[in-house]
Parts: sequence; C-alpha cells; structure tokens
Amino acid sequence: MFDVLIIGAGFSGSVLAERFASSGKKILVVERRRQVAGNCFDEIDANGILIHKYGPHLFHTDDEKIWKYLSRFTPWQIYFHRVAALVDGKPVPLPFNLNTLREVFPKNLADKLEAALLKNFEYGKKIPILELKKSADAELQFLADFVYEKIFLHYTQKQWSLPPEKISGAVTARVPVFVGRDDRYFNDRFQAVPKFGYTRLVENILDHKNIKLLLNTDCREIMTLRDGEIFLFGKNFFGRMIFTGQLDELFEKKFGELPYRSVKMKFETIDAENFQPAPTVNYPNNFDFTRITEFKKIHPAKTSRTTILKEFPQNFVAGENEPYYPIFTDEARALYEKYFSELTKYKNITAAGRLAEYRYFDMDDAVGRALEIFDALTK
Ligand code: UDP
Repeated sequence: MFDVLIIGAGFSGSVLAERFASSGKKILVVERRRQVAGNCFDEIDANGILIHKYGPHLFHTDDEKIWKYLSRFTPWQIYFHRVAALVDGKPVPLPFNLNTLREVFPKNLADKLEAALLKNFEYGKKIPILELKKSADAELQFLADFVYEKIFLHYTQKQWSLPPEKISGAVTARVPVFVGRDDRYFNDRFQAVPKFGYTRLVENILDHKNIKLLLNTDCREIMTLRDGEIFLFGKNFFGRMIFTGQLDELFEKKFGELPYRSVKMKFETIDAENFQPAPTVNYPNNFDFTRITEFKKIHPAKTSRTTILKEFPQNFVAGENEPYYPIFTDEARALYEKYFSELTKYKNITAAGRLAEYRYFDMDDAVGRALEIFDALTK
C-alpha cells in the first residue's frame, strides 16, 4: 500500500515525504505529536502573537536551492535576527563585533583592541572564541579572556552543563567573534520567517495527494523491527523507511540512553507594549535562564501586551521533557555510533535529521540534508 514509511513530521520527514510523493510514491507519515512541524511548531497565543512553542526559530541560509525549495510552500517576511547579550548589566550586540567593542570598553582601549584585531585578522573574519583564546598577542589575549568570561563560559555552562572546552568547538563557533560592524546574528544571504509561520509552511509541504499523515501515533504502535526486517501493521514491509526520531528509542535503548539536552520553555505575558531592546536578549551570567525572546519583535502584532519566553536548560528525561540538542562529547558520539551501526543492519532504513543523525542541524541544514538524502536514495 505504501512505498515509503516516514517517522516524524518535522522538517526532515516532511521534506522527504514531499520529495518522494512528488516522484509518484505513496507515503505514510507517522507523527507522535498531535501536530506537525516538530520543534518548529508555532501558533498564535492568547495575546494574538505568533509564538514558537519549542523556542525561537529564525530561518537563514546561504543556499539558494534550499531557499527556492521552501519558497514554493510559503511567502516570507524578510527578517534579520538581532541578539543582545547582557554584559555587566548592559545589553550589547552579539555576535561580539567591532561595535560591541565600543559598547563595553572606553574609547582608548577599544581603539587599541580594534587595531590588534585588524592587524591579526582580515576584516569580515569570524573567529571562534576558543581559537581567539590561543592568540599570542597580549591585547587579543585580554580581549579573548574578556569575551570568554562575559559571554561564553557561564552561558555554555548553563546551556550544556559543561564548560566550552568539553563540547565540540563547533558549538561555540556558531557564535564567533566577528571582525566587522554587522550586528545581525546571522550573515547568510537569505534570512526570513515564513509569513504565516512554520507550522503552516510544514502543513503545505505535506499537503500532497500521495501523502497520508497519521498524527498522535507512536511509530511503535504500528511498526516493529526484527532481524533486519520491518513489519508495518503486522506485515513485512519492503519499502523504504525514513526515521527522524531518536535512534536509542528505535532500538529500545539496548545500549543505554543517548544524551540530549533539553530546555524548559517558560512563556510569560507582560502587560506592556514592549519588553526588551532586542528580539532576543542573552543572559550569559545573570539568572538561571539563558535567554529571553520577545516574539512580537519577530512577528509584528498590534497588541497592548507582549509575550516573552525564558529558556531554562535542563537534562533531557524521556517522557518528561523534549530532546532539543544532541550532546557533543566523545562519549555521546561513541554511543551514537553504536546505535548507528545497529541501524545499518536494516538495509531499508535511513536516519534523517537532527535527532536521528545526532547533529546540530539548523532548519536549513535539515532541509538541505533531506534533499541530499532523497537524491542519494533515488539515484
Ligand atoms: N553561546 C554562548 N553565549 C551566548 C550565545 C551562545 O556561550 O550568548 C554558546 C553556547 O555554548 C551555545 C552556542 O554558543 O550553546 C550556540 O549558540 P546558538 O545561539 O547558536 O544556540 P541555539 O540558538 O542553537 O540554542
């Protein structure tokens, strides 16, 4: 009946469903939640503001192919994300850049540090903090220590419960020190939010006559794996299965639990038109939460109130909260590899997406990867 079985209706699963459906295959998409769009899910709240239920999602990509693909399913609202970090009680532009330098240091010192940066690095360069820390130049040493202490160390400790050195350098490199004056959080060519939200965008991707969507269904209710074979509704399934969930769950945690980091999302209504100076304000040092996002500043709404979201990082506990971030330690990677080699015993199953591939995919990465997987499977 079905040619392709897809577990999970986030970006990865939905894009693969659409690609296969458009090539004439019959698809069954099975989603545990009552709604599609995975952690990009958004909805209008009681204040009339479009909020991102699982934390702020800002679309950005440098890849025109991905941009064009998604543009078939949504009109966009051009949007450049801006983040301020609270440093010594003052909101300053993040990523730390030449403007930030002038906000946190007196002019003489800022001039000196800017000169040192420009002497050592090309204008426009992005320097990961852990790389800047290795600098031999005394002035850059001073700057690196300052930025490390004020922006990275305590935020990362809160976010991951690990110091920056204990996780993959690629994680903190996402927010580099920027030798330039661009205050935008991302520099990609294409930056926007879907005009009617991510949920609508994903619904549109899935809206295809060849796609059957089963919500509110754990895949284990309809599918089992045994000795390299897939059983769907009790019968041997010979089609392709795409799995976008956690591999440890797929294999009943036989090697133990794969660690993920979770976040407690606390939404609050503020009885004022405006709450903070930027769409997101990071709190690298103060308070238990890492950041506050004010959604009205992302999706403008005419209301006298405003909705904010505080993010409190915590350990992921199955059944209690949501897995958001794979944890990039050597141990976690090794455990993932064990599950992955278990998966390779099933020739018809492909892992796709942030959870299943245990990767720090942004939305555009997830879409790009799904398109790549489709090409590889249909070559
Ligand atoms: N980070 C930090 N301080 C900040 C912002 C980011 O130390 O003010 C580090 C932290 O380790 C974080 C990583 O950089 O997990 C990536 O940040 P990003 O904003 O990309 O995280 P996401 O939006 O994916 O949660």
